[in-house]
Amino acid sequence: MINIAIDGPAGAGKSCAAKLVAERIGALYLDTGAMYRAFALAMIRRGADLTNAEAAAELVGKVDIDVGISGGTQHTFINGEDVTDELRSVEVSAGASAAGLVPEVREYMQAKQREIAGTYDVVLDGRDIGTKVLPNTPHKFFLTASAEVRAKRRFDEMHKENRPPFDEVLSAIIARDEQDMNRAADPLRPASDAIIIDTSDMTLNEVVHTILESVISVGR
Ligand code: C5P
Repeated sequence: MINIAIDGPAGAGKSCAAKLVAERIGALYLDTGAMYRAFALAMIRRGADLTNAEAAAELVGKVDIDVGISGGTQHTFINGEDVTDELRSVEVSAGASAAGLVPEVREYMQAKQREIAGTYDVVLDGRDIGTKVLPNTPHKFFLTASAEVRAKRRFDEMHKENRPPFDEVLSAIIARDEQDMNRAADPLRPASDAIIIDTSDMTLNEVVHTILESVISVGR
């Protein structure tokens, strides 16, 4: 079994790199952020206050968040309903970061992620994979880039017609980073043995190459 942990802040290039690495080694790719996003969407749909940790903890056990692969891409489900297309809004992003503060939510997600990693070869992208979900994997990477570069990447991915102004995207990214890095439960930080890759001036191919070289040199 091979498990590769790719952590880092929003827009560092984790998902693109993780997808390509997974493809190259014939492993699955698991976007763990999508699971937190789905949980946030479940709260939004219930009209729950996303800043209410008790309400979030209460929803754990009442809602089932699952992932599956079809057509080579991850689909994420709330109680069996495919919600993949509803997870990328700014509201859901902020909600996911709020849900990620709640220890009960984290434990639920982490248990699911460990189960998947114990069953399949998988590349996981997230915030706490190297520090908490799979602390024993020898393949840990922490991708980073300046806030401006990361916001620009997110901005360029959005549809031109209905995207918010760049400054708003930048401040939303900075606010989410702050919250992710400073939370009490599993804050965003590199594992002590993670390889840190600053992707600000790297192409996607260079990032993938750096990860694959390390994975090959360490071995299974
Ligand atoms: O990676 P993505 O931007 O989709 O993650 C959304 C939010 O989910 C993050 O800002 C973070 O708060 C939370 N998250 C987390 N742990 C993970 C993955 C995501 O706390 N492993």
